[in-house]
Amino acid sequence: MNLQEQPSDVLARLAELREADAPTHGGRVLSYVYDSGVAELDQLAADAIRMVQPVNGLDPTTFTSVAVMEREVVAFARDMLNGDDDVVGSVTTGGTESCLLAVKTARDNWTGDGKPRLLAPVTAHAAFQKAAHYFGLDLDLVPVLPDGTVDTDVMIERMGPDVALVVVSAPSYPHAAIDPIAAIAAAALEQGIDCHVDACIGGWVLPFWEGLEPWDFRVDGVTSMSADLHKFAYAPKGISVLLTRGRDRQRAQYFSTTQWPGYPVVNATMLGSKSAGALAAGWAITRALGRDGLAELAASCARSTAFLVELIDFIEGLRVVGSPVGPLLAIATDESVPEERRVDPHHWADEVRSHGWMLQLQPGLNQSFGVTLPHTTHLTITPVTESVMAGLADALMSAAGAVRGVPPVSADDALASLPEGLLDSLTEPLDSESALRVLTEVGLVATDASGLPEKMAPFLALITALPAPVTERLLTELIARTIE
Ligand SMILES: *Cc1c(COP(=O)(O)O)cnc(C)c1O
Repeated sequence: MNLQEQPSDVLARLAELREADAPTHGGRVLSYVYDSGVAELDQLAADAIRMVQPVNGLDPTTFTSVAVMEREVVAFARDMLNGDDDVVGSVTTGGTESCLLAVKTARDNWTGDGKPRLLAPVTAHAAFQKAAHYFGLDLDLVPVLPDGTVDTDVMIERMGPDVALVVVSAPSYPHAAIDPIAAIAAAALEQGIDCHVDACIGGWVLPFWEGLEPWDFRVDGVTSMSADLHKFAYAPKGISVLLTRGRDRQRAQYFSTTQWPGYPVVNATMLGSKSAGALAAGWAITRALGRDGLAELAASCARSTAFLVELIDFIEGLRVVGSPVGPLLAIATDESVPEERRVDPHHWADEVRSHGWMLQLQPGLNQSFGVTLPHTTHLTITPVTESVMAGLADALMSAAGAVRGVPPVSADDALASLPEGLLDSLTEPLDSESALRVLTEVGLVATDASGLPEKMAPFLALITALPAPVTERLLTELIARTIE
């Protein structure tokens, strides 16, 4: 047929666009991407995706390959997370969908009166805030200590008959803290409350981490768990598992209707028609690696993480937050050294970026009750990190040297940097025109496809300084404008 553009030209354009992306391989980006460093696995995933390209995952009775792959991935996860025959599950499109469905399931199983409550430490992934928002639960976020750990007694005190689900993390994304799962799950069980362990990031790597207390289905009272294959199972984006203890509990996850004139609808997850690509890729990779392969890659992550923890301890002015469990960590200023020797983690991340390595800036948080959490810089360590460690370590050290003694951007500085009168004009609700004007005035709106500004520290300071609803509205505008 007569094509409007030749496929080779279309692909050339895509290649050009991809050039502008952050590098997905080679270990230069220490978040978002999980690089096994094994080219064979990437090729296997690509081949598997290609083989199921036309399949519709909507109906596992018509496309039976989908059911077989899903059953095997779920069985693998259940085995790894020590679930028995009573633990069943689904493959979802990612961690967020797994978390959303865990909340929806608990809400639908909850038998109390009034509005159900979702109880979680403030460090629980933001997907749970989204779930409470989507599914109409009251959100009860419990403040954590400055090292990112939650006080078990405070969590237990907040339990009650209106709680539909309590969430704990293994580990938390912001600080890699592992929550007191056994104690919280036991208390939840006693009160008949469901307990979800969010192992989205830890689920495929902590089974091979040494020296951990039971944190999975070995713990009585754990009623569901999420574990993302597109993180430490190295699958391309679009695959996670949600496991649930008890068939009857899990059936509340499903949506089914015959009350329309079309085909009977039965959906285990949120989407209707869906790709089987990521499922096939995740299935193929987990089969190829098996437990031993995953363990070998986890061991590499563990070595790199231990090395980086030591390196940060060695760099004057920085410190690792808490005691990270798993291949991720948060780094804050070491306030035990004199001011002129301190390193601000956001200036540091900006400087590290100028050396070609991308770390993730995390804002500080003023918690509703209790302590303020310091702003930090996040690193996720993957197997590829080990092969580039020398270069990474050099960049981390020399960047610290370059910004040591430079004070953090304070909230006052951030607000003072705003154009005259701008703050007063930020009356809610902001419409999209005014939001765009603000973004342009502070230099945040991308006038081309060049992405983020070079220095992120001032913007992170602004995020913490402005009222949350204002920032949230501005960020919505920022992202919406990237596609307009
Ligand atoms: C990544 C992550 C999620 C959300 O997963 P997505 O795949 O990004 O949707 C949830 N919880 C934790 C702990 C995570 O690390």
